[in-house]
Amino acid sequence: MRKIQVVDIVVFGVVQGVGFRPFIYRTAHRLGYTGWVKNIGSGVEVHLESPRPTDFEDFLHALQHDKPPLSRIERTDVREGELHDCAEFTIQKTSEEGGSFVFISPDISICDNCRREMFDPDDRRYRYPFINCTDCGPRYTIVDALPYDRDKTTMRGFTMCEDCRCEYEDPMDRRYHAQPVACPKCGPRVTLVDAATRAVIPGGVQEAAALIESGKILAVKGLGGFHLVCDPLNAPAVERLRAIKARHTKPLALMARDIAAVERHALVGPDEREQLTSVRRPIVLLRQKGELPGIAPNLNELGFMLPYTPLHYLLLQDLELIVATSSNRKDSPIMKEEEEGIYSLCDAILTHDRPIAMRADDSVMKLSRGRPLFVRRARGYVPYPQAVPAGLEIEGHVLALGGELKDTVSVYRNGYVVTSQFLGDLDEYQNYAYFEETIRHLSSLFEIKPEAVVTDLHPDFHATRYAQRLGLPHLQVQHHFAHVLAVLLEHGVPPGTKVLGIAWDGFGYGRDGTAWGAEFLAADHSGFERFGHFRYVGLPGGDLAARQPWRMALSYLTDVYGEDLPRVKALERVGPDKIKGVREMIRQRLNTPPASSCGRLFDAVSFLAGLAPLQVEYEAEAPMRLEAVADPGCGESYPFTLAREEKQRERPLQPPYVVSFAETIRGIVADVCGSVPARLISARFHNTLAEVMAAAALRAREELALDTVVLSGGVFLNRTLLEKAESRLEELGFRVLRPVLYSPNDESISVGQIAFALNHLRKGMIRREITRSCRCGS
Ligand SMILES: [Zn+2]
Ligand SMILES: [Zn+2]
Repeated sequence: MRKIQVVDIVVFGVVQGVGFRPFIYRTAHRLGYTGWVKNIGSGVEVHLESPRPTDFEDFLHALQHDKPPLSRIERTDVREGELHDCAEFTIQKTSEEGGSFVFISPDISICDNCRREMFDPDDRRYRYPFINCTDCGPRYTIVDALPYDRDKTTMRGFTMCEDCRCEYEDPMDRRYHAQPVACPKCGPRVTLVDAATRAVIPGGVQEAAALIESGKILAVKGLGGFHLVCDPLNAPAVERLRAIKARHTKPLALMARDIAAVERHALVGPDEREQLTSVRRPIVLLRQKGELPGIAPNLNELGFMLPYTPLHYLLLQDLELIVATSSNRKDSPIMKEEEEGIYSLCDAILTHDRPIAMRADDSVMKLSRGRPLFVRRARGYVPYPQAVPAGLEIEGHVLALGGELKDTVSVYRNGYVVTSQFLGDLDEYQNYAYFEETIRHLSSLFEIKPEAVVTDLHPDFHATRYAQRLGLPHLQVQHHFAHVLAVLLEHGVPPGTKVLGIAWDGFGYGRDGTAWGAEFLAADHSGFERFGHFRYVGLPGGDLAARQPWRMALSYLTDVYGEDLPRVKALERVGPDKIKGVREMIRQRLNTPPASSCGRLFDAVSFLAGLAPLQVEYEAEAPMRLEAVADPGCGESYPFTLAREEKQRERPLQPPYVVSFAETIRGIVADVCGSVPARLISARFHNTLAEVMAAAALRAREELALDTVVLSGGVFLNRTLLEKAESRLEELGFRVLRPVLYSPNDESISVGQIAFALNHLRKGMIRREITRSCRCGS
């Protein structure tokens, strides 16, 4: 930059409510510049004056490298300014402009400075569980509306004392405009309450720790809701907690005092350590080391997180490790208020009087080749904005409502998508209420006035019906196409780039009305062709087939062997009457809808290998058990066929490729009957699926001249499969993209729906009649 005396800088991104203005103030003072800083619409404006011409390089460098930890700069505009002869540098009051799009920070764990103060007996906030500063603490879960000021947060009921106000108003203080600032004199308080009598138990946090140690189950109020907490080494306590939650085998999350405590029970690599200790504090799935029975039965991974609120740190001073699982009954959202039924779930409650504005579960991830693979994206990541690829921006706002299971909602404004936290299964009444609550919250926070709403193609989804009532233009997107679009959006793939989208999961409503589940889509932003899919196999009993893996085993065996079924040991557990009944259903095609589901193929194989239970308790339990035993040293695979569909439908185009696993199933049956260990059967099956992807990708390259493959759908939470597929495809020279910022499961559907809407709205393809909806995707 040439040397000038005055510069105007506008910084866009997450720069409000994160200590950005005081940082600018301190930096300008330090470097000897005068001028001002103020919040404007979607960012921060800085006016800098120098006594002599300069390139302001020192300031711009500090802006990039010393910025506050919670801030994220999306864009910086720098131009020469007009001289105002400022005598000093000041922080100006926020101008009340309407129509702005202000980003807000997610909730962030307590920072080192605050932690040091909290454990300093001479500090006025010694052992105060609500200590925070501009660099740390609650954000998204305490904000009702923007701009981010104290009266728009759940701290509005607490009047700052003299000392807190001084810190809050001093630009040189690290609590300058920290909205949740508080101290023992003026802020929220913790209470320990007996769940049965509702009487206060004296002793607070220390007594709570003692109760946990003695085998009690406690509810502890965190950032986005209550955790249920117990001692993981106390088997009867863990069992009782499982009974309360009606969760007998689903893994329970653990919170450990520090990394050393984690390392006693699990293997922690450098990438895992980085995530565990990051300010977002996700639950990280780690390979189990030694015994911790009852926490993740039949699996080889444990989910760990480190403390993230001051209260957690105080509690874990006296305990090394706790179970910390979301306080909810089966299939309901995490509880955020006592009145939601928390008393019936525990022996005592460690609660406080700072209300939670928005619930949010803990985020859960694994690491794959050094990058996050989200199982659940929520606290710590929401509501970070995601920029859409250049060429996709539009003027208006869009609301996307996602799918049905593992739902999220997304909003679009000014070139950015903001996606909600994981909301759960909308078929549950309480989750549906949570869905509505979240739409209201996001819409009010970001002042969203949607010009269109997007949903799945499925006519019976709750979100689809919700959308129909909004009276807005309504777009509908095929489920697996949305999976692929979400990845294109996240990776900034420009419109017009053709990819092979491999979207594999349990179920998505197909364009032809059938149940799709393992799809190869030749796609770009504007549409897709169904390039291939798994052969359709009946789901005997419909939804029941997803809960009882033996039904899928029987369905696959019948598909391959017809009437003459081989004797497979695993089926002996089922009993002859049930087998007879289900075979009859399959034969007569009674309540046995055909599907190309990948999840159900995994169920069948897991059951044949003797790993799946008769009835699963949670989604993907059978596939997870299969993955858990896979032998990493085995390179063999089973045969399969990939061929064009024989029956020509009434379509002018080539029929899609169909993958048949008949030979695979024969191979597995031979292995099972030959007492080949499950670890080898599992590995061979995983390798087979990687080969299936490779074969399809090669055909696609040959026929469609594309070289990018997108992997998405819940199946790709299987790290073994994901990594095998990535390396195999890369070996063949493909560029492979997969979700990194979002989960490959249905949480990313709403993101893909936004991408679809932007493309259509840009092209003016939307029909503005309210009654007619656009059911396309092609
Ligand atoms: Zn702090
Ligand atoms: Zn105070």
